[in-house]
Amino acid sequence: MSMLMTLAATAETATLPGAGPGLQAIFSTTTYIIAGVCFILSLKWLSAPTTARRGNIVGQIGMAAAIIGALLQHNIVSYEWIIVGLVLGAAIGAPLAIWMPMTAVPQRTAFSHACGALAAALGGSAHFYLEVPKWMAEKGLTGIFSTEAHMNMGILCIEVLLGALTFTGSLMAFGKLQEILPQRPITFKGQNYFNFLILGLALATGVALTINPSWTFLFPVLLGLAMLFGVLLIVPIGGADMPTVIALLNSYAGMSACLMGFVLDNKLLIIAGALDGASGFILSIIMCKAMNRSFTNVLFGAFGQIQAGHGQQGETKSVKSASAEEAAGILEAAQSVIIIPGYGMAVAQAQHKVRELFDQLSKRGVDVKFAIHPVAGRMPGHMNVLLAEAEIPYDRLIEMDDINGEFPQCDVAMVIGANDVVNPAARHDKTSPIYGMPIIDADKAKTVMAIKRSMKPGFAGIDNELYTQDNTLMLFGDAKAVVGSVAKELAENHK
Ligand code: NAP
Repeated sequence: MSMLMTLAATAETATLPGAGPGLQAIFSTTTYIIAGVCFILSLKWLSAPTTARRGNIVGQIGMAAAIIGALLQHNIVSYEWIIVGLVLGAAIGAPLAIWMPMTAVPQRTAFSHACGALAAALGGSAHFYLEVPKWMAEKGLTGIFSTEAHMNMGILCIEVLLGALTFTGSLMAFGKLQEILPQRPITFKGQNYFNFLILGLALATGVALTINPSWTFLFPVLLGLAMLFGVLLIVPIGGADMPTVIALLNSYAGMSACLMGFVLDNKLLIIAGALDGASGFILSIIMCKAMNRSFTNVLFGAFGQIQAGHGQQGETKSVKSASAEEAAGILEAAQSVIIIPGYGMAVAQAQHKVRELFDQLSKRGVDVKFAIHPVAGRMPGHMNVLLAEAEIPYDRLIEMDDINGEFPQCDVAMVIGANDVVNPAARHDKTSPIYGMPIIDADKAKTVMAIKRSMKPGFAGIDNELYTQDNTLMLFGDAKAVVGSVAKELAENHK
């Protein structure tokens, strides 16, 4: 998307003498239509695990068509800087895609949004400084700015405002997720009022520029205020809410690109930006619902703060631990097993060992299902992606609401590196930061096995009473090693 914006902005700056739209324009428009259709189909297919791969490929084809279409615009005079941009972008993007681990996808996404938003803000700024002299010249002839100039200026101001605030906001989100910056919410008295004041000033600057585009000195002020607002918007938000915020920032970047499309009269940017903006917004709503959080609470609350001492008061309860051999014996005798994967499975990259365990149990006629919590892991669909990679059949992956009713009849609930999403405190402890979040009812199973390395808390920073329940057995260790040992036990000693 950022590449498209840069190309669109570059293409707009010059016209090749003597070259008309003709064939090239028809070709460009055709590729744009193909790209638009591909983006829509991609989004549709990406929403289900069975069609997600197809969705991904179609999305890539769409983006390739969009880039080719933009590159072949008849009014591009020079390709030198475009090539520099392409090489530079590929040099940064390719290593990121190849070496960044799956568990770091949220911060990688935040970084990508920062780049896209920067491109939108820079594209808008370039347009401003190129167009204002033309509008001034027109004004010199008529004595007033044309309606078109005022309208363009208005759209440009919103576009730059969104682009600049998304740029700094996404960088802050990246810093928090990468733990370069403190994850806890940073708050101060009157914060929301101060934030609204900065936003109000930025909007007022935009209005002033729309009324009089010749006040060019206001443009850097608008940029500065928007960037400051981006920082202020993110600092009070805790680490646990950051993925939701990233989806929201994605939406802002999309809207910014869409507005850029109006300014540059680029229909593909309008389509792609609108799709990006709408899907990011819908995703953040879905995530808020899954965590039982309201939008305003995410943006203006201070969730994610490590609640010192939460769940740690009172007597210390002992835990029962079991060996891989004992676990294999219990699993072999079970008729139904529900596996609940979480972030720890992703960290350990245990999905292939989980597949081995699934095969061993299925072979013995045990009914094995996977309970998928919508916010397990660190990004939406995290567990689905990993289990699909290990080729676990899709029909074995059951959404939380559909499987929760089965736990009272289930023989073994096997929790693999999940913590917050199975914490019963979410149901009854009103002081808990996860109170109200729907959870997977693992605690209701006849036997619970929990695989993790220690008694340390998960993302929300709180203890989990599930581990001290009478029917819970802890299997301490790295998820890959423990699941591998249990599968091996079943294969070798429990034939
Ligand atoms: P979690 O609560 O973060 O717990 C993960 C557990 O995995 C930890 O307790 C950790 O315990 C264990 N672990 C880490 N490395 C391991 C390894 N190598 N082997 C075995 N265990 C390992 O994870 P979750 O239950 O999946 O919950 C996700 C959290 O992220 C929720 O709080 C959710 O709200 C938040 N969140 C997710 C999303 C999303 O889109 N998915 C979005 C927003 C927020 P040890 O250190 O003791 O091993």
